[in-house]
Amino acid sequence: MIYLDHAATTPVPREVADTMYAVLTEQFGNPSSQYEAGLAMKRNVEEWRRTVASALGCEPRQLFFTSCGTEGDNWAIQAAAYQNRHLGRHIVTTSIEHNAVLECCKWMAQQGYEVTYVSPKDSSGIITAEDILSAVRPDTAVVSVMMVNNEIGTILPIREIAAGLKAKNPKTLLHTDAVQGFMKVPFSAKTLGADFITISGHKLGAPKGVGALYIGQRVRNPKPLLAGGGQEQGLRSGTEATAQIAGFAKAVELRSQNLSETLRRMAQIKTYAVEQLTAIADLKLIGSGEAPHILSVSLSGWPSQNIVNDLSSQGICISAGSACHQGKPSHVVAALGLDKRTAGGVIRLSFGPETTKEEIDECVAALKNHHDNRMPMLK
Ligand code: PLP
Repeated sequence: MIYLDHAATTPVPREVADTMYAVLTEQFGNPSSQYEAGLAMKRNVEEWRRTVASALGCEPRQLFFTSCGTEGDNWAIQAAAYQNRHLGRHIVTTSIEHNAVLECCKWMAQQGYEVTYVSPKDSSGIITAEDILSAVRPDTAVVSVMMVNNEIGTILPIREIAAGLKAKNPKTLLHTDAVQGFMKVPFSAKTLGADFITISGHKLGAPKGVGALYIGQRVRNPKPLLAGGGQEQGLRSGTEATAQIAGFAKAVELRSQNLSETLRRMAQIKTYAVEQLTAIADLKLIGSGEAPHILSVSLSGWPSQNIVNDLSSQGICISAGSACHQGKPSHVVAALGLDKRTAGGVIRLSFGPETTKEEIDECVAALKNHHDNRMPMLK
């Protein structure tokens, strides 16, 4: 199999799986238990928290384990809105967020919030800090802007948005969905300026079903997500998913080794893929995304789902827009204002630390073959 869909999910390295296996079978104590097996597990969870917090650049007490990125996004937006409930009922976000943010905003709108969706001005997919800040009003409770777009790899200017927000409306809280940014674009929670940062494990070699939310110091008495036994400082009750958390920390530890070298190599693979792909007639680059692991292109005229199916039959995994949309047309592609032929042919290739030039070559050959031997169906 040639796997070029690392933005959807990533393989779990053997060392991560082994770490999890040991936790499941040997170190299975409940961190809340008062005998040694429980106390030892509590110490382990705090050690794993330190590992993830250190990679994120925050204090361990500012990091709360969640079950996924979707959970972090929903929690952050609701907690920020709750803190600022007396400031106003306005939310600013973008039209290219992941559905975890968009659907949460839709739900907030049903609760009486007004939501402003900032769109890219053109097909580059770029949204500037100025675009976001000009949508902010005195009654804006929350700004939620993703760090890296999962479909086109655009990097959004979170640091500038944070600085501008503090100048314009200091009480407004800033959330960033960094699910595609964490360990892909360098940043530190300490200097980023966001009040909430969502991350997810399965995008970097951890198992599915674990994530974390950073909650910064400007958030006072954050609204608990789950009430119950008081885990995660009483804010996210529920027995800790110890094996998942262990796997998350192990994956972070592995990715932290030579991270800048890994990112440089991924960026080189992306550049190589661009060079090879653009030799195919009718192939267009989509957006100007600079993330090292995501490349969006369109075989203008050829329906993306047919391309995905054709490559899948040859053991090559790429995605048509976002894997999270289950085949429905992507709202991100729609926001770029592309013509119908181009929009209908958008596919995403995304890379991992082990992706090779040979894998790119095979994918490019399959795409060229699709182009040369299948009829374009889009008018
Ligand atoms: N946000 C972004 C940008 C994503 O790419 C994803 C997953 O693809 C999510 C949120 C959701 O994360 P999870 O699958 O951990 O719920």
